Amino acid sequence: MSEEKNITKHEFGSDTGRLLNLMIHSLYSNKEIFLRELVSNASDAADKLRFLALSNGDLYQGDADLRVRISADKDAKTVTISDNGIGMTRDEVISSLGTIAKSGTAEFFKNLTGDQSKDSQLIGQFGVGFYSAFIVADLVTVRTRKAGEEKGVEWQSQGEGEYTLEEIEKEGRGTDIILHLREDEAEFADDWRLRSIVTKYSDHISTPVQMYKEEVPESEGEDGEKIPAVPGEWESINRATALWTRDKSEISEDEYKEFYKHVSHDWEEPLSWGHNKVEGKTEYTSLLYIPKKAPFDLWNRERQSGLKLYVQRVFVMDDAEQFMPSYLRFVKGLLDSNDLPLNVSREILQDNKVTQAIRKGCTSRILKMLERMAKNKADDYQTFWNEFGQVMKEGPAEDATNKEAIAKLLRFSSTHTDEEAQNVSLEQYIERMNEEQDAIYYVVADSFTAAKSSPHLEIFRKKGIEVLLMSDRVDEWMMSHLTEFSEKPFKSITRGDLDLGNLDDEETKKAQEESEKEVEGLVERIKTALGDSVKDVRFTHRLTDSPACVVADENDMSSQMQKLMESVGQAAPEAKPIFELNPEHQLVKHLNVEQDEDKFGQWSHVLLDQALLAERGTLKDPAGFVTRLNKLMLDMSK
Ligand code: ADP
Repeated sequence: MSEEKNITKHEFGSDTGRLLNLMIHSLYSNKEIFLRELVSNASDAADKLRFLALSNGDLYQGDADLRVRISADKDAKTVTISDNGIGMTRDEVISSLGTIAKSGTAEFFKNLTGDQSKDSQLIGQFGVGFYSAFIVADLVTVRTRKAGEEKGVEWQSQGEGEYTLEEIEKEGRGTDIILHLREDEAEFADDWRLRSIVTKYSDHISTPVQMYKEEVPESEGEDGEKIPAVPGEWESINRATALWTRDKSEISEDEYKEFYKHVSHDWEEPLSWGHNKVEGKTEYTSLLYIPKKAPFDLWNRERQSGLKLYVQRVFVMDDAEQFMPSYLRFVKGLLDSNDLPLNVSREILQDNKVTQAIRKGCTSRILKMLERMAKNKADDYQTFWNEFGQVMKEGPAEDATNKEAIAKLLRFSSTHTDEEAQNVSLEQYIERMNEEQDAIYYVVADSFTAAKSSPHLEIFRKKGIEVLLMSDRVDEWMMSHLTEFSEKPFKSITRGDLDLGNLDDEETKKAQEESEKEVEGLVERIKTALGDSVKDVRFTHRLTDSPACVVADENDMSSQMQKLMESVGQAAPEAKPIFELNPEHQLVKHLNVEQDEDKFGQWSHVLLDQALLAERGTLKDPAGFVTRLNKLMLDMSK
């Protein structure tokens, strides 16, 4: 920071220049949206003041007509967007306009591909709001005075890494944003052009957006009569009624879409929306949108919610997270309640009957909206799932009441296609189920490839039984909360004893017994050799190609769950595996005839380690495994 008179210089965050450059290039074909972004901010500022003035009317200081004004100066090549809203203090200017990139910037840069068209979609997701001013301007001046404060502050920047701040005298509260247009963007200093952009993008803004209508001087009519002069005045050029209060049938798709961009600060169109007026015991209007793209900070715990709360059409707060369960945190839009008090606070909302009723209603509305989308617009639903599926998977644990409805919406990979894309629903699974099958089988592994090639799948593949393949971090957690769907229990194929029940015929069962007889006594010998590295040893018929596998005991924690707990720094109780052997496998038969107890012990350990490796991807003592294996190979080559 350097100081000259009372102007101070400040630096933006390090990636600013790069980000702005990218944005200017990406949005070049759609540059007029800068006006939408700035008008949207100005209208938000008016909303915020209106709310604060409810408890402190002095803030208006005699000027309660909140509005946004746009003017242009062709000679100076400037456009000014001016509001008499809440304004900003010096500190607020620094925190709001001095850091372009909030949480998620580093993530954002990692995602850049260098491919211009892909990157421009990303920039939309990132939401650069105010900075879109630099698409058309090479110098931006912000003059602002916070309501209730004496002094104002001027922020100025060319968008190239630094900005200046200066204390100023400013008449009236609020914010003026002055865009000094780039050489080739002079077209935006034209009144008609500005008017048409506002009509296109900002008609639904509830604050009046005004432009100055020049006076018409007195003139003479055809018959020589005098036509009186019309004085110049500020006139509203938008409809300025709250969109959600209008009748559904009167609102066009485009209006809904534009409104979405305003409330969500997203530049993409929404995937779907629902507009409802609820009457009766609790009265409210909800306008809820499902975005097309996940924001960068979807996984950030401190992430703000996308719901605005209005009370009787007065904006009350952003980020009203109380109205949506966490697994639906991607929903954006607004709620307008008739029952809540205007001075409602977050604390009041937390434990409030009205909140609960609205939350319940909105949750089921979103779930229904998704169900309808899944049924009627499968492609859209797939887009939705790819973006937000991981979050939806938190649903069964969080929302027991709607578990069945959420389960219907889940999508999985499965052995039906063996493809990584998650596009199999539980309903489809059940439809394909064999008549004799009485459970929904699934496997959870560290990666899709590990799930797909799990040795536990062998018998299922052989019998043509579909198994759901899961490998997302949240899967194990989700499955611990999902016990059944459509009266069919879920069953992990890596857990407990495998009883394929009616799916095994008598003949197979007999053959299996025979094969076990052949290697009788082996189980006891291995138990002795492995000692307490295993919980139990037994034969299995779930394998066809592999000699052995490990399974978790029915009530023990699975190895995925252990890993999950360890990854969040929690101590997980160590659960010893059950070691299962395939009595029909050559290696197992070979082990049975091994007389040398030392070698027998080594073989048993190697088989166990192999099975652990296939299951967990790591071993506690990899060097020990390698030494034993090498020794056995040497013995064989003798
Ligand atoms: P967003 O609106 O998505 O938060 P922006 O970059 O558009 O991001 O704006 C950053 C912040 O700057 C806003 O959240 C708001 O606090 C502040 N701001 C922008 N324009 C105005 C304005 N006209 N009046 C008051 N505050 C504003």
